Amino acid sequence: MATAESTTEPESEAESAVETARRQLERAAAHLDVDEGTIERLRHPDSVYEVSIPLKRDDGTVEILTGYRAHHDDVRGPYKGGLRYHPAVSREECVALSMWMTWKCAVMDIPFGGAKGGVVINPKELSRDEEERLTRRLAQELRPVIGPMKDIPAPDMGTNPAMMAWFMDAYSMQEGETQPGIVTGKPPAVGGSYGREGAPGRSVGIIAEKAIDYYGWDIEETTVAVQGFGSVGANAARYLDRHGASVVAVSDVDGAIYDPDGFDTNDVQDHDDVPGMVSGYDAPEHFSNAELLELDVDVLIPGAIGNVLTGENAGNVQADMIVEGANGPTTSQADTIFERRDIPVIPDFLANAGGVTVSYFEWLQNTNRRAWSLERVHEELEKEMLQAWNAVRKEHEARDVTWRDAAYIVALQRIAESHDARGLWP
Ligand code: GLU
Repeated sequence: MATAESTTEPESEAESAVETARRQLERAAAHLDVDEGTIERLRHPDSVYEVSIPLKRDDGTVEILTGYRAHHDDVRGPYKGGLRYHPAVSREECVALSMWMTWKCAVMDIPFGGAKGGVVINPKELSRDEEERLTRRLAQELRPVIGPMKDIPAPDMGTNPAMMAWFMDAYSMQEGETQPGIVTGKPPAVGGSYGREGAPGRSVGIIAEKAIDYYGWDIEETTVAVQGFGSVGANAARYLDRHGASVVAVSDVDGAIYDPDGFDTNDVQDHDDVPGMVSGYDAPEHFSNAELLELDVDVLIPGAIGNVLTGENAGNVQADMIVEGANGPTTSQADTIFERRDIPVIPDFLANAGGVTVSYFEWLQNTNRRAWSLERVHEELEKEMLQAWNAVRKEHEARDVTWRDAAYIVALQRIAESHDARGLWP
């Protein structure tokens, strides 16, 4: 298994997301002959916008919310990335997530750069009308820095297709013309792509299947545990279930369920559709999310939130492989432990890149004013995922590095080449 000469011990577990993102960039850079100036640029975002959003609550009071949009790098095309509504949204987090979007688009070889934004709010506290007012006002506040050829937002944690439709409508009303390409992840009725919602989970399933095959395992004999049964986790679990794997554990925020014989994943309802239905499901065993992460399974898919695999629990993980469904579920310290323990970690920005890839398909459909069928989306997604997997596999084998480093190397080579060709102006 791989060891990288550039491995450095993280200083502390309290490492911020930006520090993690920078550390990962530096590890990859150590394998490549990339201009030091380019690496230094990539350690920083191009810009970060902060906006105040006045939200009129249903009771008539006005609350001022804080929103961000981080632009990391656009050397390969317009900035691209989601908008999240979450109480933990911060400038730092948006910057780190925008960096990951740059690598995600580059590893997929799609012509976008990296962005991420969000609003500091618990979306569960919003009524539907408040969601709509907030989203429309956010579109207005971000208008100076976004555009179909400039920066194209999308859904992320706490946001959904309905919000993307309001966002598109608000932007279009202000522009005086319908601009479906301003945002992706819309409902199909307003230019959204078929298959976009399920795409991140589907790509996690596709990549997990490739990895299972790579290690010579029989998928029919493979057991899988999935943390989070929302859009990413449920779609990944159902994909692997359909392809023969045995999904023995799934969870939602309230807890995990376990069946050694494997679940019928279509029978367990999506947490997004019916909250509480996962932990409330009639299963042989119920336990905590923390216990799910330490189950003795072949494949563990953390598919809910970031920073769940840490220096604290990485030593107890019994899975033989980890496929990251969520963005940033593994801290650097956990990564180092998994590397020492020879547990392959297939990184988030490859595995869940189906989301932004179908976002790109959506943007192409909007630009060409022509919708693709679901079959075509699935076919093209499979093709793109296979190409990205092969590029990463080649670096993993040729350089004897971890999967994360290999994916970074692929992405960084492409980005550095573009920076080189465009040069620094003035
Ligand atoms: N928020 C998603 C992600 O993290 C999708 C971004 C997009 O489609 O632009 O990949």
